[in-house]
Amino acid sequence: MSAETDRDLSAELASPRSGHRGIPVDAICTGCQTVHVKRVRPSEVAHPADTDPVTLDATALTSFKHVCHRCRTCTWWNPTAVLSGLIEAKRSAEEDQ
Ligand SMILES: [Zn+2]
Repeated sequence: MSAETDRDLSAELASPRSGHRGIPVDAICTGCQTVHVKRVRPSEVAHPADTDPVTLDATALTSFKHVCHRCRTCTWWNPTAVLSGLIEAKRSAEEDQ
């Protein structure tokens, strides 16, 4: 349906470019239109810190600032999707340990 078929979202999430803390979201850079998985804290997208990320809807998230490696600066990113599948996969992996 979209160009996402050739992307490995788990690998993007594991990359340092996605950040280290927060909820995995798919986001687009407002500067260069690059699409990349980013981690955001709920507080960065106008939600309480204790929000359950699985319940979030991307349309309810605000833009957030994050480094863009193509723009070589900190830019605004618009969340396009909450990657709840990746959140749930991580949770079940932790439960198995
Ligand atoms: Zn950019």
